[in-house]
Amino acid sequence: MTRVARLDGLLDALQNFYGALPTPPRDPFTLFVWEVLSVHSTPRKRDAALAALKRIRALTPDAMWRVARAKLEASVALAGPYAEQRLRALKTGVDLFRRSPNLPAVIRGPLPAARRALKPFPQLGEAGLHRMLLFAAGHQILPVDARVNRVGLRLGYGEPNDDFRKTARRVQTALTRELAPSVDAFQRAFEYLSHHGGSTCTETDPHCHVCPLLTECPEGKRRTA
Ligand code: SF4
Repeated sequence: MTRVARLDGLLDALQNFYGALPTPPRDPFTLFVWEVLSVHSTPRKRDAALAALKRIRALTPDAMWRVARAKLEASVALAGPYAEQRLRALKTGVDLFRRSPNLPAVIRGPLPAARRALKPFPQLGEAGLHRMLLFAAGHQILPVDARVNRVGLRLGYGEPNDDFRKTARRVQTALTRELAPSVDAFQRAFEYLSHHGGSTCTETDPHCHVCPLLTECPEGKRRTA
């Protein structure tokens, strides 16, 4: 099996195992809000908060700027703790989007300018910035969050380093080498690897015995030997 076919096969196996997954929003502002709500939250709580913001029609920069503070707080609180930090991050993001109405076009343009435009946004981090570039702007960049990093390493992509950012870059390079050059392929890879890292290939107790990737996974074979 070629290397490209290997990753494709692994992703096919995850897709068969999990079925269709919810995907991150494609609208840049909604995705930014989704990122802020995701930090220290769970997908269920994050989605409840996002749905509440949608119900009060606060999912554009202008609408969020205008909405009553009490309504905004009640919606954001559904994501869990750190409500104050989330509200501060949202306020900064709203200001940035309102000051740069052409931001969605800028991030869809050349990468250096797109990165510069996203840098000032709070709570994104490297993986969040890359999710913005991939899902809201259509750049072929694989976001490597802690889950993708863990799954990638266990499957033999990249090598660990004490510095998470260095490890993540190695995992990103190794996985990207095997991805077809299409936005769909990059989005599918992120969605399934990240979901797998959160539900089956968990940090302390991966469920290798039920994992559909066991026959292809060096770490899984070691753990189940
Ligand atoms: S076999 Fe285990 S370590 Fe390997 S991907 Fe599956 S859950 Fe993770």
